[in-house]
Amino acid sequence: MSPISVKRRGIMFVLSSPSGAGKTTVAQEVLKQEKNLNISVSCTTRKARPSERDGIDYYFISENQYKEKVNEGEFLEHAEVFGNYYGTPKFVVEKYLDAGQDVIFDIDWQGTQQLAENARDDLVSIFILPPSIEVLEKRLIGRNQDTDEVVNRRMSKASDEMSHWPEYDYVIINENLEETIFDVRSILNAERLKRLRLKGLVSFVNKLRSKQ
Ligand code: 5GP
Repeated sequence: MSPISVKRRGIMFVLSSPSGAGKTTVAQEVLKQEKNLNISVSCTTRKARPSERDGIDYYFISENQYKEKVNEGEFLEHAEVFGNYYGTPKFVVEKYLDAGQDVIFDIDWQGTQQLAENARDDLVSIFILPPSIEVLEKRLIGRNQDTDEVVNRRMSKASDEMSHWPEYDYVIINENLEETIFDVRSILNAERLKRLRLKGLVSFVNKLRSKQ
């Protein structure tokens, strides 16, 4: 029999949350555990944190470079978050999606809205909530990567950000990291199996039926 010709469109798999809810850790773990999944590395005008590497965590660019990329239409979506600019490079994401590979995005609600406007059918979005405000604050302080002022600014924005949960396909409360990772992977795998994402099913089934 000829090779199976049912293929699948790639999924844009978005994780959003207020900062400190654990989304980046979840994204990194899911990425390690799942095949066929790539991360979209964003551009940002924010300064790199000590642990961050250029080209791996972000592409760290100047405001001028950012503006140029916006004008050239190089971003799939872009937004200002906490006084810095962020954008998702279009080229790499399109390459993966065309090849039937999935892409995970760690972006905010503004970016998610833009992706939904342009490619709703390819988008699966998850909003991650912290179990409590105290835990959120502890995680923000505990990661020891931002100044007190930045932590305070992010805490005061958390309520605004959390108000966007109803715009997402799924909501997970991140009380236990292992369970959250399991839930995110379950969602990804169920979405991968959706009939509407499969291409070539009609001819595949016709071929099956013609052999009877
Ligand atoms: P951080 O500065 O802590 O890495 O990220 C701050 C916020 O910006 C997070 O909510 C993160 O998801 C969001 N973010 C990171 N990259 C992008 C991007 O390319 N586009 C948008 N819209 N948000 C982003």
